Amino acid sequence: MTEDRPRKPYLSKNEPTGATKIFEKQCQYPECTTMYFGVGASKYCAEHQKNEYKKELLKMKDNEAKKEYEENAKSNNIIEHSHTKTTQMTATCPCGRHFNITLIPDVHIYPKYCPEHRNIYRRQQLEERLANG
Ligand SMILES: [Zn+2]
Ligand SMILES: [Zn+2]
Repeated sequence: MTEDRPRKPYLSKNEPTGATKIFEKQCQYPECTTMYFGVGASKYCAEHQKNEYKKELLKMKDNEAKKEYEENAKSNNIIEHSHTKTTQMTATCPCGRHFNITLIPDVHIYPKYCPEHRNIYRRQQLEERLANG
């Protein structure tokens, strides 16, 4: 006899226990300063919850993601791979040193620099040296 007893209904701590909590919040829509009352997960005022703004918000998110991607691309190595298992590969730092990276499924951002040049100060030194030939 191990797990045959009927289990008590399990209530996680995060589960609402009746009344939904309403908070006063500021709308997250860019430049909207409306304060509104909403549940924990809501982000936008009544106006900006309308469908016509959803597209706009999606576009903005897209742009943000693109910007972040470009920022990442500067100091990281974007590797578009389709490995479904973790795979080792060798990358080359701009200093010429080879180093190992482990490709992880669905992850496309990897270090661009060898361990030594992941230090921002060392990296600046390297970039200056490369710029001056
Ligand atoms: Zn709003
Ligand atoms: Zn290096």
